[in-house]
Amino acid sequence: MTDKQARRIAEFIAPLRVEPGSKVDLARDFDPRYRARLRKRDSTELLRTGVSLLAEYQSRLAAQDTYGVLLCLQALDAGGKDGTIRHVMSGVNPQGVRVSSFKVPSAEELDHDYLWRYARQLPARGEIGIFNRSHYEEVLVVRVHPENLDRQRLPEDARGRGVWKRRYREINDWERHLCDNGFPVVKIFLNLSKEEQRTRFLKRIDLPEKNWKFSAADIRERAHWDEYQRAFSEMLSATSTSWAPWYVVPADRKWFARICAAAVLAHTLIELDPRYPEVGKAARKELLAAKRQLEGEAPEGAERDPYAAEHGD
Ligand code: AMP
Ligand code: MG
Repeated sequence: MTDKQARRIAEFIAPLRVEPGSKVDLARDFDPRYRARLRKRDSTELLRTGVSLLAEYQSRLAAQDTYGVLLCLQALDAGGKDGTIRHVMSGVNPQGVRVSSFKVPSAEELDHDYLWRYARQLPARGEIGIFNRSHYEEVLVVRVHPENLDRQRLPEDARGRGVWKRRYREINDWERHLCDNGFPVVKIFLNLSKEEQRTRFLKRIDLPEKNWKFSAADIRERAHWDEYQRAFSEMLSATSTSWAPWYVVPADRKWFARICAAAVLAHTLIELDPRYPEVGKAARKELLAAKRQLEGEAPEGAERDPYAAEHGD
């Protein structure tokens, strides 16, 4: 990774970042069809570069034990969360990645505070945790459908009008705590247009092998489009922070969304710059002693160190 590459990635994702403290109006500020003048025919190569970069950094992340990374993916239905995870993470070692998908909360989950179920799925040091939907549902679907809030059985005085502002604050504080303790939080919103959602729903209905991806609930949610846009705009304004900024990724073109998602995650890993642990003096001595022992075990006619012999050092 050269400084120039790192700078190019930083410049590429800059227009997607929600400036902390700014007031977002999704429809006005972010175009779901933006493509930074890239062409689809160049996308395969670009994504391949991104994927191999991520593979290298993930391997370095897994080798150290100070940092873990949490990637939160939010989108409306058919926004492309599943496909983004599949493509962007296609090169990384599955041992170092943990994907958690959040659905309607269970009875057990409702018996706890609203952040509990997300906290239980956090990555360990060395891991990349991916949240397919995240704690942000608590200020999105729960806000658009307040009966979800009733089910959470909050104390009387915590249910009032200030509940969303308070949740924004709690979420910001929680993410700050995670960042301060070695777990940077990367937040991506896949920004889909209403017309592209219509097209993708129709595709799911028209193709039998896609039918399972469609449910009648998707149409019911679509009817709340404007409320979701408002909830997203307000959430992005309130929770894009200097320690965990939001990235609004244009999602109408899947190929572009995947390149953006890879670039945003790569940017965080580059900044983190995880290193393979260096072996100290004592350990180095042990390695050399083991090397001498193994060389001594070479059978008649074999190289003392076949690896060094083949690789010429
Ligand atoms: P999917 O991601 O398509 O499998 O759908 C998961 C469903 O769970 C979506 O309809 C979400 O709105 C819903 N969901 C996720 N988190 C919550 C939550 N905290 N409260 C209520 N519904 C949720
Ligand atoms: Mg769905």
